[in-house]
Amino acid sequence: MPFKRNVYARSVYQEPAPILDRDNPFQSMMERFDIAAEILELDPGLYEYLCTPARIHITAIPVTMDDGRMKVFEGFRVIHNDILGPSKGGIRYAPDVNLDEVKALAAWMTWKCAVVSVPFGGAKGGVICNPREMSPGELERLTRRYTANLIDVFGPDRDIPAPDMNTNEQIMAWILDTYSMHARRTENAVVTGKPILLGGSQGRKEATGRGVMTVTLAAMEELGLRASQCSVAVQGFGNVGSTAARLLAEQGCKVVAVSDVSGGYYNPNGLDIPAMIDYATANRNSLEGYQNADPISNDELLTLDVDVLVPAAREDQITEKNAPHIKAKIISEGANGPTTPDADDILNENGVLVIPDILANAGGVTVSYFEWVQDRQGYFWTLDRVNRRLDRAMRTAFENVFAASNKYNVSMRIGAYVMAIDKVASALRMRGIYA
Ligand code: NAD
Repeated sequence: MPFKRNVYARSVYQEPAPILDRDNPFQSMMERFDIAAEILELDPGLYEYLCTPARIHITAIPVTMDDGRMKVFEGFRVIHNDILGPSKGGIRYAPDVNLDEVKALAAWMTWKCAVVSVPFGGAKGGVICNPREMSPGELERLTRRYTANLIDVFGPDRDIPAPDMNTNEQIMAWILDTYSMHARRTENAVVTGKPILLGGSQGRKEATGRGVMTVTLAAMEELGLRASQCSVAVQGFGNVGSTAARLLAEQGCKVVAVSDVSGGYYNPNGLDIPAMIDYATANRNSLEGYQNADPISNDELLTLDVDVLVPAAREDQITEKNAPHIKAKIISEGANGPTTPDADDILNENGVLVIPDILANAGGVTVSYFEWVQDRQGYFWTLDRVNRRLDRAMRTAFENVFAASNKYNVSMRIGAYVMAIDKVASALRMRGIYA
């Protein structure tokens, strides 16, 4: 399907299409949304409703730093949609996080939950800060004040945060504690991705990478490839990238390259992923200085002659510049929004099977849902049970998206959007508009 820039918006409103900022992740999400909306012939009012975030919270977070100075940070929480259930989404700590990025990530969560049939809406949070330059005490005070500022927004039946870039189990534990102090009871279902001791789920930490592995294997089957014949390159060696690399290697794939912010690491005979994970764990989660591989640049990694490419770092890594040189047959998007719309067109033309982010990395929110269910039941599942249910959910979602893309003769990304938007739009029609 040829790419059309905001065609649907233009045709339904009879106005010139807005000039899009191609580096803006919200616009990039909307471009895919538009194509799906056109296929579904969405009613213009419904279209507008589904592309508008339900609520946007911007909050100033004063923190006393270790040297006694007060510093004010800016934090966001965007609730994109809560038609299917309480809203769900991670919190990102980064120096360059901004409202547009958080809006895009919140909308992606809505579509992602719908793709894997998890009864949640979509949300996302962000705080502009550099956690690498902050002490644990400063991070704790920042997290607690951010939570206190948003105390009426969060809640197990309202909006449930989770970790995202630069946030982790410890930060979730502080949110749980702060929320529980205000609620005057321990409320462990208010966050997911927390430590197991505090009501976290077995398998949650590895869930996103595990989901990436499951859908990648499903895509290999569709293309008639066997894992033992496939070479893999993984961009990003954090939670998602390192887990996906380890599990794909365990399935027999040859992981020949990985990268993180320190650069790329290549070995045509296959890297020792467990050794690299141990190295990074002992080195503040960085591969910097790892010796048993050849150095390559990030761009070289993306265009290596491999069967599978797993972008698991950040947005906008696969662009119109490097897409023509990508040789992988399968791209499995561990990261959110790693491929720009222009790059998508090129990859489609070149016959690359792209497993879109809203499907490929939905394992995390799926086990987050399992965690929330377990917290509310007060009954906890074994790792084996969690993994079996996750694998089944990811396989089913892959098959549904694959079927939708065949039905409408579109890419898997557009197939996933069509499926998700149709589901949320149908729920909205059933609920009706409260006036
Ligand atoms: P993380 O902070 O644990 O890891 C990010 C990794 O990417 C690090 O290794 C970092 O060094 C690397 N990186 C950053 N910029 C890079 C660059 N330009 N080139 C190469 N490497 C770079 O984060 P994560 O939790 O693994 O998340 C990664 C991506 O997956 C994000 O887009 C996130 O939104 C998405 N995601 C995460 C989860 C989850 O459960 N953690 C779920 C769904 C989606």
